Amino acid sequence: AWTRSKPPLLRFLKACHAEFTSEIGGAVADYIPELGKADPAHFGISLATLDGHVYEVGDTQVPFTIQSMSKPFVFALALDTLGAARVESVIGVEPSGDPFNSIRLNAENHPFNPMVNAGAISCSGLIHEAKGDAAFEYIRQALGRFAGRELDVDDAVYASESATGDRNRAIGYLLRTNAVIKENVAAVLEVYFRQCAILVTARDIAVMAATLANRGINPVTGEQVMTPYAISRTLSVMTSSGMYDYAGEWIYRVGIPAKSGVGGGILAALPARLGLGSYSPKLDKHGNSVRGIKVCQALSSHYDLHMLNRS
Ligand code: GLU
Repeated sequence: AWTRSKPPLLRFLKACHAEFTSEIGGAVADYIPELGKADPAHFGISLATLDGHVYEVGDTQVPFTIQSMSKPFVFALALDTLGAARVESVIGVEPSGDPFNSIRLNAENHPFNPMVNAGAISCSGLIHEAKGDAAFEYIRQALGRFAGRELDVDDAVYASESATGDRNRAIGYLLRTNAVIKENVAAVLEVYFRQCAILVTARDIAVMAATLANRGINPVTGEQVMTPYAISRTLSVMTSSGMYDYAGEWIYRVGIPAKSGVGGGILAALPARLGLGSYSPKLDKHGNSVRGIKVCQALSSHYDLHMLNRS
């Protein structure tokens, strides 16, 4: 009945914002030096319904970098661009249980799944294989269709990650010796670093999530952005591996497919219901936004939204 209760929904989001503003735990990510400059006070919550209505509370217009929340969209794009067989032959779909930046591959020397860095870098490699030098622009445009507007890049964050991203480069070279990446590794890494530095707001994330929840149709623009196949498989890997090494706990307790990023964003997409975007840069030890987790827990329990508790 939550869709019938619109003013109460806004009231509920405002109450969450007020309550969780007092959560000041966690730390802003600074392993990419430029990310350390984020204002820890920023806090925005946005929720988009599938009739195209977007609720916004707090700092929902503050731009921040998408980071790992780009991974589901580039995976969906790879499925639709190269075909599922090609993508699924080199990237697994099992949770790794390892941190996002782990260099460990699975028994076939493939990435465990597209939500960890190894899998995401492989997706960027596949897009590079298909589109060459146009790969990044192709990704940026696709993410813009999910958001319903053209998205820019934070050049300072991009340069900062490229200057310090040797661990991701190491993963890239490991992927090439195992023939997962067939391309120029350096060029693929620049595509990956740029895609992580795409600027979004909490509102954008809510609309992008709602597009995932709506079988690939952006509920604001009406555009079919990706095929339902790509969307359902993307939601599957978000369900099993979207929240770093907290993914099992997350799906057990919150029960909504989601992806977080070290920039402080959380994207949650409940199929046939809603998309949520939150932004608050302080992260817990798993790399998930402290306040964002609280918002999702409260939303799920208040409206009884666990995906396996539906009638
Ligand atoms: N660009 C970041 C990295 O590869 C993304 C990490 C994340 O958001 O989990 O380290």
